[in-house]
Amino acid sequence: MNEKVVSWGLIGASTIAREWMVNSIRKHPLGRVKAIVSSELSRAQAFSDQMGIPDAYDSIVPMLSDREIDAVYISTKNDQHLSQALAAIEAGKHVLCEKPLALEPKDAQSIVEAAERKGVVLATNHHLRNMESHRAIKRLLREGAIGKINSIRIFHAGALPQSLKTWRLFDKSAGAGVIYDITVHNGDLLRFYLDSNPTRITALASASGEGANGIEDSVMSVWEFPGDILVQCHDSFVVGHGPRGVEIHGSAGSILGIDVMSQAPGGSVVLRTSDGEQDIPLELKVTYDRGVSDFMAAMQGKGRPSSTGEDGVWSVKLAKAVAQSAATGQTVLIEQV
Ligand code: NDP
Repeated sequence: MNEKVVSWGLIGASTIAREWMVNSIRKHPLGRVKAIVSSELSRAQAFSDQMGIPDAYDSIVPMLSDREIDAVYISTKNDQHLSQALAAIEAGKHVLCEKPLALEPKDAQSIVEAAERKGVVLATNHHLRNMESHRAIKRLLREGAIGKINSIRIFHAGALPQSLKTWRLFDKSAGAGVIYDITVHNGDLLRFYLDSNPTRITALASASGEGANGIEDSVMSVWEFPGDILVQCHDSFVVGHGPRGVEIHGSAGSILGIDVMSQAPGGSVVLRTSDGEQDIPLELKVTYDRGVSDFMAAMQGKGRPSSTGEDGVWSVKLAKAVAQSAATGQTVLIEQV
């Protein structure tokens, strides 16, 4: 593809599209947002008016038949990603899809295979691996700054804003719960840090009553990675005032990522060794900008998306393992294929 304008269609009049993704697409010199689809026409129209998007639809059909649309960004409720991604791929669109790609690994895998058959780019919008803080951490790990890694602790526990206390807490069939919302990101981040997949996971979850029907709003899990690396994750929708971060411990030091489990740029990364404590300088960049620009480069045959479809399959597989362990009380062994 030449350096031509890329027209995007958005499937989902969502908060993340409104707060982040439309801006990130528009910041790219070739990115244009042409259409928005919602299940309610009034919501699509309100979104298009507010964001200055030319076309508004209440069905994906007309948007997917618009030959000017090159790429689609899907940010509907979790249970809708599968059918919408398959339809967009079938229509020959490149697809940037929100996590989780689907609610079952085999369904996520079917999206990957459909994209391969059609020859379109598929990416998963895992944002943490695109943040300057996590990229700095990965650089330190690669350079051996803390020696052999022995353990990681992830604190991904926050409070849902009032406006998001909807399907995430009340609609199991939509893919509700903290595991498919938050833990799924940890899986991607850990694979990004370690370049390997966990071998087993044990978890316990709880429902504090914020949501309905026992939908879990907190989960703690322990993961084992090759090389005797133990990981502990605490993910929650009901922790209002805790810091959200990561600690990585190794034979020669520790890395602390403070306030780095968020959508906004910021936080800090500190390296602690026997030489003392060092603040790692970070640029403040919007994480979603990199996801969009890597995706658009991949459309032009330059490189791969930062988080691929395969990465999205893995994160679903790992989220499912956490959910299964929490439901059964059993440790879940992770198939490596
Ligand atoms: P929202 O709840 O804001 O939007 C999801 C869907 O809910 C929309 O597509 C919309 O349906 C419907 N909806 C939105 N507002 C209303 C309303 N006022 N009344 C009725 N329905 C409404 O979700 P998020 O933006 O938080 O999340 C969307 C997706 O993005 C999820 O899959 C989530 O996992 C993912 N996500 C990813 C993040 C990341 O960093 N990668 C961060 C946040 C979310 P319709 O389109 O039919 O109008």
